[in-house]
Amino acid sequence: MRQNPRERERQEKLLKQYEKRRPDIKQQFEEGQNRNFNKNTRGRQGNQDNRNNRNNQNGNQNQNQNQNNTPEQSANAKRKVELAVNTRRGEMVHHQRMLSSDVNAQATQHIVGIPVNKSRYNGFGGTQITSNQAKNNRRDPEAVRIIPLGGLGEFGIGKNMTVIEYKDEAVIIDMGTLFASDDYPGINYMIPDIKYLEDNLKKVKAVLFTHAHLDHIGACRHLLPMMGNYTPIYGTEFTIGMIKKQMSELDDEPDLNYQVVDPFKHEKHAVSEHLSVEFVHTLHSIPGSTNIIVRTPNGAILLSGDWRFENNPVGTPADYGRLLDVANSEGFSLMLNEATNIDSPGTHPHSEYDVGDNLGLVMDHYANGRIIVSCFSSQLGRIELILNEAAKRNRKVAFAGFSMINNVEVALRTRAIKIPKNTIMKMEELIKLPDDKVVVICTGSQGEMNAVLNRMVTGAHKYIKVKSTDTIIFSSNPIPGNEPHVVSTVDGLLREGAQVIQNGKSHINNIGPLHLSGHAYYEDHVKFVTDMHPLNYMPYHGEFFMLEHSAEMAENVVGIHKDNIIVVDNGDVVELGQDRKVRRTGRITVGSKLYDDADNPVHEAVVKDRVHISREGIFIIILTLSKSNGHLIKTPDIISRAFIYLDNSEELVGKIRHYLRNKTEHSANVDLKTLKEEIKDDVTHILFDSTGHTPIVIPVINKV
Ligand SMILES: [Zn+2]
Ligand SMILES: [Zn+2]
Repeated sequence: MRQNPRERERQEKLLKQYEKRRPDIKQQFEEGQNRNFNKNTRGRQGNQDNRNNRNNQNGNQNQNQNQNNTPEQSANAKRKVELAVNTRRGEMVHHQRMLSSDVNAQATQHIVGIPVNKSRYNGFGGTQITSNQAKNNRRDPEAVRIIPLGGLGEFGIGKNMTVIEYKDEAVIIDMGTLFASDDYPGINYMIPDIKYLEDNLKKVKAVLFTHAHLDHIGACRHLLPMMGNYTPIYGTEFTIGMIKKQMSELDDEPDLNYQVVDPFKHEKHAVSEHLSVEFVHTLHSIPGSTNIIVRTPNGAILLSGDWRFENNPVGTPADYGRLLDVANSEGFSLMLNEATNIDSPGTHPHSEYDVGDNLGLVMDHYANGRIIVSCFSSQLGRIELILNEAAKRNRKVAFAGFSMINNVEVALRTRAIKIPKNTIMKMEELIKLPDDKVVVICTGSQGEMNAVLNRMVTGAHKYIKVKSTDTIIFSSNPIPGNEPHVVSTVDGLLREGAQVIQNGKSHINNIGPLHLSGHAYYEDHVKFVTDMHPLNYMPYHGEFFMLEHSAEMAENVVGIHKDNIIVVDNGDVVELGQDRKVRRTGRITVGSKLYDDADNPVHEAVVKDRVHISREGIFIIILTLSKSNGHLIKTPDIISRAFIYLDNSEELVGKIRHYLRNKTEHSANVDLKTLKEEIKDDVTHILFDSTGHTPIVIPVINKV
């Protein structure tokens, strides 16, 4: 092929240039080789840090390297002390890195950055939004913004909290807690991080509560006082009663502006210039539950709260007619619907009354012994039924468990339940009655270690020790994650010879069902969303799969167009525009604040340390050095916790003492901080070498 003269010219030029540069290239290559060689002898680490020389085992340090060292680095080299280890430092660093990534993964499950959301309902046609896009998306000043601060797309449903805002007016709906799993040692619960609101507190015109479950009101004690004394707090009588009870437990109870609403009045409470709110009575597993309608310049928004359909409820039927009226006259621009039980097919196969009847059957069947019923303390409708069944059989009832007694007290005060006369007794009186007259309603159905039921098993309860003639009913289902605890409680009860009757096991004793979930099933959702025919649909109150399944239901079964359905996470900003369309326009800071069982905040770093210590332990070295020459004055004290048992580890302890003696003799002029760092590093290496673990090493140095 004939070459273009221009091309030939170009190639010749390139060749000449290459010839000229060749010595440079060769030199660079050799230098590179040299560098790699040096690196290998220093423990095969990518890190060129000279500190690594200290840990060089074969001692053949590169001469050139030392000649090039600064005086400080040469001093470092002189201080080098034999560690007598067989593992490379790199292996230890690798172990530490893996450990720290495990610890992080465990301790940051509830910290949200920019979550992955490539759902087709993500508001961007299934494309992942980048942090820059999230920041730069232009906000529409005329839009109503819906911002979930908690309750969406995280592990375990809880800490529900939603903000709806228009210009500089905002309402907050719910302030819930989430109970921490065993992954969070020493943490009792978490609440939403409300950094966004703290920066915008003036905007908040009202706080609204759908109902009194802790995943909706549990964070009140921490968050309500921040809202100030004038911000109105709306809820039904029972809900406000439960919030007040919680606030009364604070050392310094704030004087807040509570507004009790009567959901049957269909009042539109104008909370600001552009926003008004209406509460509509609904049914759930706690009295005083409501849907909330927030009317905005861009249309009405329906928040479902938690709900279920019931044809024959304990108490007043749902005010579904009111919702239908609004849906058909004004229409809803947007519906937020809870997604908890979307994976349960069909509809509830039985009613709360069936549960009550079955509890009565157990009382008949085991007529001679005591009946102990455990259920959620907020199941006040169920408690009303148990009282009725007991009264019919001349049994008396006492309550056990702090939350149980509290809730019943509020329910009685706010007339949320009706109870038969002369049935409730104090526990200390009840236990004097013959066994066939006794019913105890208690907490502990989730197998909580310190709840009443477990204490009755171990004999730690003041009044009741379970005996073989007792019948214990679990009128509940274990919350996912609690199953092993429930099993352990059941085993304990069975070992005492008691009869145990659990919901969902009717094939064993032919009794059931004994529980009814508070959340709607799939077909209920289909009916509800169809009847409300909202312009836009946004599932909330659920883990990501629940939100996604609810969205699919809305598109595929109800027939809402996919562009009008949005699946988002905590912190995503959803805008409802003047055009009545929803879009996602960015993110705000969200996360979790952690609390222990004394209601004190716990920093994330503390949790990480706890997880680290629980896996690797802690190792403390206390050195007393002479001020004059830096040598050890006495044998170092060594403390090991959650790591190795020192009495069985003489050889290792001897090795560390030997190292410390050598090290301090070589480090007379080293500043304390550097010495601590080096000892920490070396001791970690020695411990890793003999145990494969890297506990937290803390050197404490006293100079006398
Ligand atoms: Zn609820
Ligand atoms: Zn809930």
